[in-house]
Amino acid sequence: MMGYYRRYCERRADARAVGTNGKRWIRTWINVFRTETEARVPQDEAQLAQLICEGEFSCVGKSHSYNGVQVVPSVTAMMMREGGLTTLAYDPASETVRVGASVSVRDLKVYLRDEHRRGLYNAGNYMEQSVIGALATGTHGFGPRAVMADAIVELTFLDGSGQRVTLKRGDPEFAYVALSFGTIAPIVELVLETKPLESYVSVSSMSRLSKLDELKQGALAVNWAVMPYTNPEDPVIMLHALAECDQAGAIATHPKASGGSGKFAAWFLRRYYKLDRFLPKLRRPMQRIIDWLDLKQSERVITDPDDLDYLYDPQPGLKENRAPSITRGLFSTTYTGYNLAFFVPLEKAPAVVKFIIREADGLRDLGFFLKGIISVREMPGEAGPHFAANAERPMAAIDLFADPRDYAWLERIQRLVMHYEPDTRPHFGKSALGPEFCKTLDTAHLAELMRIHRRYYPQGQLMFSERVRAMLDVGRPVAGVPAADAGLA
Ligand SMILES: Cc1cc2nc3c(=O)[nH]c(=O)nc-3n(C[C@H](O)[C@H](O)[C@H](O)COP(=O)(O)OP(=O)(O)OC[C@H]3O[C@@H](n4cnc5c(N)ncnc54)[C@H](O)[C@@H]3O)c2cc1C
Repeated sequence: MMGYYRRYCERRADARAVGTNGKRWIRTWINVFRTETEARVPQDEAQLAQLICEGEFSCVGKSHSYNGVQVVPSVTAMMMREGGLTTLAYDPASETVRVGASVSVRDLKVYLRDEHRRGLYNAGNYMEQSVIGALATGTHGFGPRAVMADAIVELTFLDGSGQRVTLKRGDPEFAYVALSFGTIAPIVELVLETKPLESYVSVSSMSRLSKLDELKQGALAVNWAVMPYTNPEDPVIMLHALAECDQAGAIATHPKASGGSGKFAAWFLRRYYKLDRFLPKLRRPMQRIIDWLDLKQSERVITDPDDLDYLYDPQPGLKENRAPSITRGLFSTTYTGYNLAFFVPLEKAPAVVKFIIREADGLRDLGFFLKGIISVREMPGEAGPHFAANAERPMAAIDLFADPRDYAWLERIQRLVMHYEPDTRPHFGKSALGPEFCKTLDTAHLAELMRIHRRYYPQGQLMFSERVRAMLDVGRPVAGVPAADAGLA
């Protein structure tokens, strides 16, 4: 009770602090990493240029990353999302949009839709983040052009003396800086490719992992969520496939739910999602009932071209304005749990998921439960930025969710996956970052990123997260990091 009250007071204090300069708490989403530090809200680029020359600084977008990549103790935090860098300008000739560092993904999508009938190639499933923060961490959706940063054609950042530097796609340093997780900052403007608004055929199916290949056929974009406490040999999955409207017939489906068992299942699932959030111990028996029901059913929807979140919620309008449904239930975990994610080669995803199911089940007696789903977003094709998840080959994004107190178990699972699948790559806003990722990110690429960093910030005043510094083996922990304060490092 006291804990809830304390958290309520913290939230109110954080809300009051938005837009203000001075000592403030910077907290990650779900509050697992935090620090109290000086914050500055830049009103325009000239003021930002002046502020970054005053001493050590870091950049914060909306502070929605889970893994603390935006939390740097003891240095002045530039609160980019709260500032006045609100450029939004569409160029019909190149079909690109110029966007400033204070603009949110929602503002950008609404502007493109309402004023130019255009949209983004891809997006994450939440829209309050700053566009630049999201792109800097490799935020992605699924399907073609899955990593948002792959759509950047030009970007402008301020160097250590506050001067503008503009890089264009094709410039030698561009592919490093376009996805650089806070090591090149502040990025003040980006230019992004856009696409026309269009409808898709969206098929949501409840099925089994063994049916994955069959149900994927003919789809343009695919994501699937696995219920981890169903049959570990062939778990229940909920699959979401998108196809071009003229390809609708090519997508495989199960018959639509009908009759008593279908209705009972829908009734049961609605209650399941409510209980699942609060009673983790019931999760396994309830998922076993779902397993026993052995449902195979599909729903087909034509998405509304104006729908901003069609990738995650195919019904028209925004999911946040609607009561929970089967498809919405898939993703509600994001709002209630700690989310750790990483990327594995696409063809390995089913085996990795089965491995995680077994590992997690073995930890049950220690009180650890994954939240209701493991989410898998398929990322075909290859992206341009060197540190994009699918820079080298098609990948699958695996998202795990657990109660915040259990987040360390997620780190353990990540480490085990990395051990058995060495090509695992990090999500810069959600993975537990560390030196183990250097090989898969290519040590030569990382060294080049650090060379670019030193070239533009020779004064050394741009600071980035201790976990990223440890990963890149640069500098020492700063004051405020316990290892430094304790004299350990
Ligand atoms: C509810 C929720 C849903 C999510 N869904 C998805 C999803 O579907 N897919 C996905 O891939 N991720 C998802 N994420 C992760 C999220 O998109 C990223 O963590 C993203 O970085 C958050 O953006 P932000 O503005 O909050 O950035 P922050 O967390 O504030 O910062 C992230 C990084 O960007 C840097 N940065 C910020 N602004 C600038 C700037 N102007 N110049 C240079 N560097 C800068 C920071 O230094 C830091 O390194 C989700 C997160 C939440 C909370």
